[in-house]
Amino acid sequence: MINIAIDGTAGSGKGTISKLLAKKLGYYHLDTGAIYRSLTYFLIQEKVDLNDEKEICKTLEKIDFKVQFEKDKDGNQVQKNLLFGEDLKNKIRTEEISVSTSIISKFDCVRKFATKIQHELASKYDLIIEGRDIGTVVLPNADYKFFLTAKPEIRAKRRAEQLNQPQNYNKILKDIIERDEADMKRKSSPLKRADDAILIDNSFQTAFQTLSEMISYIK
Ligand code: C5P
Repeated sequence: MINIAIDGTAGSGKGTISKLLAKKLGYYHLDTGAIYRSLTYFLIQEKVDLNDEKEICKTLEKIDFKVQFEKDKDGNQVQKNLLFGEDLKNKIRTEEISVSTSIISKFDCVRKFATKIQHELASKYDLIIEGRDIGTVVLPNADYKFFLTAKPEIRAKRRAEQLNQPQNYNKILKDIIERDEADMKRKSSPLKRADDAILIDNSFQTAFQTLSEMISYIK
């Protein structure tokens, strides 16, 4: 199987670009952030204290969570994040979930759970796999590795537009900076560019420019 790892900071366009690249190459796109978000959604639903590692690990033992790939009516690939059989869709895309996810994603049992799913899918499918620790920890032998980033102000502007909340720009900027810091500083699988990952700062690029830069590296 061919696996292309795309890591990067929050709002760096990883999602958009991974989707475009997957479509171009005919691969599946695995959004690993969605796995961490889904676990967070479940833990919030279960009213677990998100700082209580022991309680989190215990609660995760009873979760039924699966990732499934499907095609929609236009032939686009969709990733279903199934919690007890229910596709969580946009329920995991709120700012509350974003912020809470970076709190729980530092715990080893959470990472172990999410990494196992990623390994299973990577051994079964050609994948564009997008996250924070793919090139460093999950798939250190990935066929290609990219690390995307952009200036925080630009990432916040993109995220505010994506959420259709321009009025919340300042809060989104603050959240993005705090989330990157939490992701970079955690002991377990921190957000970090792998030594052999190609670094792309796309602050002043369109998604298509970033995409063609990436394609120029892929043989
Ligand atoms: O990519 P996304 O913004 O959806 O990720 C949400 C959060 O999930 C990140 O801020 C990070 O804390 C966590 N995450 C992670 N490892 C990954 C993907 C996401 O820790 N591979």
